[in-house]
Amino acid sequence: MHVAIIGCGQLARMMALAGWPMGIRFSFLANPDENIDCVEGLGTVVRGQDGLEGAELYQALGCPDLITVEREQVDTSLLVSLQPSCPVYPQPEAIQVCQHRGREKATLEKLGIPIAPYRLADSAETLKAAVDDLGYPVFIKSCEEGYDGQNQWRLTTPDQLSALLAERDSWPAMVVEAKVSFEREVSIIAAQSADGSQVCYPVTENAHKSGILIRSQAPAPNLTPALEQQAQQIVQRLLGHWGYVGVLTVECFVVGDQLVVNELAPRVHNSGHWTQGAGVCSQFENHLRAICGLGLGNTQPLQNAGMLNLLGVMPPASIAASGELQLHVYNKQIRPRRKVGHLNLQDQDALRLSQRLNALEECVYSDTTI
Ligand code: AMP
Repeated sequence: MHVAIIGCGQLARMMALAGWPMGIRFSFLANPDENIDCVEGLGTVVRGQDGLEGAELYQALGCPDLITVEREQVDTSLLVSLQPSCPVYPQPEAIQVCQHRGREKATLEKLGIPIAPYRLADSAETLKAAVDDLGYPVFIKSCEEGYDGQNQWRLTTPDQLSALLAERDSWPAMVVEAKVSFEREVSIIAAQSADGSQVCYPVTENAHKSGILIRSQAPAPNLTPALEQQAQQIVQRLLGHWGYVGVLTVECFVVGDQLVVNELAPRVHNSGHWTQGAGVCSQFENHLRAICGLGLGNTQPLQNAGMLNLLGVMPPASIAASGELQLHVYNKQIRPRRKVGHLNLQDQDALRLSQRLNALEECVYSDTTI
């Protein structure tokens, strides 16, 4: 089996590392200027260039059996051009919706899935009207190219809005969102195969710093069975809606006894890196199993599992050397806030795991602010 991955980042790296023991070969499509250190040695890398698409690109990728995608921003018309040559999973239709916050919210609304009140805007006037309508505090997010808190503003006063409006003459398409007063943030990761078989990992609790994921714990401690069920129903509705094939992630806010969906990721996700430990079939392997039509693997961890992101920092030697943790390094150059690796750890006790994560975070970030 030969799988081509569109993208060369850490998700492509970890997918390939999960696929090699299964005998899967890989090739990768890189953007013209994309750094390919993450996938070095894991397969052939093809550089994208203007006009390279369809059958010609398929040939350049070595005529794979399947094509999959690791990154958010991908030209979906390029994916569509590859479909006559081999299956492309997840389907470009789902990717096209998820890469635009406005389309994503419209789909969630249509499916009756709870989301924060929002307005669309694409100019200073519509932005101001949307903020007036929703009131403060408010989140402004560009519809595209917004991830890890990029192209995103949180406003609490009219003065901040005036300052922001003065910054630019033109505005991209944006969603303006009311602030959700949530108790915590969670995500659910599920996989579906072409024959409709599905698996869900337990709901994961996530903590963010400056809009970027810093740590996760699964199963989310003390989550009610009703919330767990709601999360499963939401992800299953989306999988069914698209006839989706592969791994899909849904990020949610917990508000009392309800989940409010924040965003979708049509791929393996940072909040699922803990699945590389704790005795489950990892999200990377299950994604490959789903797209290759192999039986889906176990998703129920034997122990509580945690993950700490390494954001622009490597852990001290004592932590890197510890047999109590698994260090994953992506081969990237270290830059502030950049995801350069993560640490996974497990514990029989959820409270102790969360305390160990606290201590780890303090130690790893003692000299670094995110
Ligand atoms: P996003 O890029 O949409 O995932 O947002 C990054 C982070 O900002 C989220 O994980 C939340 O911590 C916070 N955030 C985003 N939107 C909202 C909202 N409407 N209400 C409260 N917090 C939010």
